[in-house]
Amino acid sequence: VWEKVVHPDEIKLIYQYFEKSYAAQEPFEVECRIKNAATGNYEWYYIKAVPHFEQKNFKGFIGTALNTQQQKDAMAILEYRKALLEAHTQANLDGVLLVDARGKIISYNKRFIEIWNMPQEIVDANDDDDALSFAMTQLVNPQQFIDKVKYLYDNPTRTSIDELEFKDGKIVERYGYPVVGEEGTYYAWSWIFRDVTHQKQAEKIIRESEERFRVMAELLPEKVSYSNPDGKVIYYNQNWVDYTGYNVETLHGNGWTSLIHPDDVEETQKQWKESLETGNDYEIGFRLRNKNGEYRWHLSRAVALKDEEGNITKWIGAATEIQKIKEEEERKGDFLKMVSHELKTPVTSIKGYVQLLLSILKAEEEIQSAVLETPLIRIDNQIGRLGRLIAEMLDLSRLESGKLEMQKEVFNLDELLIETVQDIKFTNTNHEISIALDYRGKVMGDKNRIEQVIINLINNSIKYSPDNTNIEASIFAAGNNQVAVSIKDYGIGVDKKDQSKIFDRFYRAGGKSEKNYSGFGIGLFIAKEIIERHDGLLTVESEREKGSVFTFILPLATKNKK
Ligand code: ADP
Repeated sequence: VWEKVVHPDEIKLIYQYFEKSYAAQEPFEVECRIKNAATGNYEWYYIKAVPHFEQKNFKGFIGTALNTQQQKDAMAILEYRKALLEAHTQANLDGVLLVDARGKIISYNKRFIEIWNMPQEIVDANDDDDALSFAMTQLVNPQQFIDKVKYLYDNPTRTSIDELEFKDGKIVERYGYPVVGEEGTYYAWSWIFRDVTHQKQAEKIIRESEERFRVMAELLPEKVSYSNPDGKVIYYNQNWVDYTGYNVETLHGNGWTSLIHPDDVEETQKQWKESLETGNDYEIGFRLRNKNGEYRWHLSRAVALKDEEGNITKWIGAATEIQKIKEEEERKGDFLKMVSHELKTPVTSIKGYVQLLLSILKAEEEIQSAVLETPLIRIDNQIGRLGRLIAEMLDLSRLESGKLEMQKEVFNLDELLIETVQDIKFTNTNHEISIALDYRGKVMGDKNRIEQVIINLINNSIKYSPDNTNIEASIFAAGNNQVAVSIKDYGIGVDKKDQSKIFDRFYRAGGKSEKNYSGFGIGLFIAKEIIERHDGLLTVESEREKGSVFTFILPLATKNKK
């Protein structure tokens, strides 16, 4: 009968137990599955049986069968949970240690052993006291460590975070969680160990770099600040405080712009706003009020710090007092103006006398006059040059003080070009100057100033082409109701890198060779200013050793303008 209900896989096994038990005349125990008639499913049973003999005659087995299916199911769930927990513990990047209330190690992971360098036999012994003793040998401050552990074990109510410093330089953060059951029973301690050495090192580097920045910012004579991406200042150095007489709180409250001279505020704020929007560097001069209420000139600069994605993270700003430089510059300007004024009068009078002498000589028939004529013409030329240099210096100081005035009228540019070239030819017989007239047009402007530009360009062409004497002047239509004048030479040319700079004040192109040509480096600066004041444009095209073309473009005079 029983063969019908026991699982087919276990029938043979049971027969084996029967035989053994019978032979030895001893009871046996076995686990097997028996079919539940109601559900048709097999369920686990625990069988215990004894062979029964009557006067040495075997009568059969007497046994009991206990259903263990529920127990089996519960065990399976437990096994499953245990496996999950183990995998979870091992996979943890932190070191994990679980110690029960009696001080026995329940579980740990590989990372725990790695962090602590703990010998396997210590953890295998499962005794937390041994593990603690070993741990103490690894630490810079073992006493503090063990005191804290003891305290926590005695007070299993609170979580804790501690930083442990290892002798090998490692920094480990230890988190402690008491495992407490629902009724408040304390079961175990869960310890987690996280190696934060790299993180701490990075933090230290950042701290040190910030400290360096701060010390440097305090050390510099500049007023240093930094601001958020939106421009709100979050740091002012001591120089700001010392200069303004405001404390940091007041500075933060009022903002630096409140200290700027009313005449400079608008431009300062406009440019700052522009920089905040574009992220471009900021540079501006303004007058800043000091604690005595005096305004002093400052040069202020700010640059944006950006992250990897190019987003602005901060603005660093520095304002340098340039009052002395400004005053010096002003004095230099005044001096230049005075010198050129003082020089102008005697030079003009000498020129007058030389020309008077020349005209007397012309009338004189006697032979010896020829001996005097050549030197007098040379003197006249040199004085002409001196006069132009003085005029340039004067123009420069006028320009800088905003006093270079333009007297505008309508005139024929082509006629002016022809006249000017003829005048120059008169005194420069060494160079051939041709004129190409492709356009005739009237412009509205200061005739003398435009003439000055043409003279300057042609004189430069002559000066900078000592070996090639051809110079070509031309006038042509430039489209858009504009007219252009070009002066072309085949001289020493201008290097690409210098081409944008030669229009700057005092700039003379590099090369040693230029030192052989006299000049102040202000002619083109003034020429450009003059042309721009006529809404025009002055440009250069040039190649080293091949020559240069300087071109200016002016708008044509419209009919309704006079
Ligand atoms: P400078 O008094 O030195 O001639 P400019 O302002 O007229 O001053 O010119 C500035 C510089 O530009 C010159 O020093 C020279 O290096 C360069 N330069 C100007 N014109 C020419 C030219 N035609 N050919 C070559 N270089 C020129």
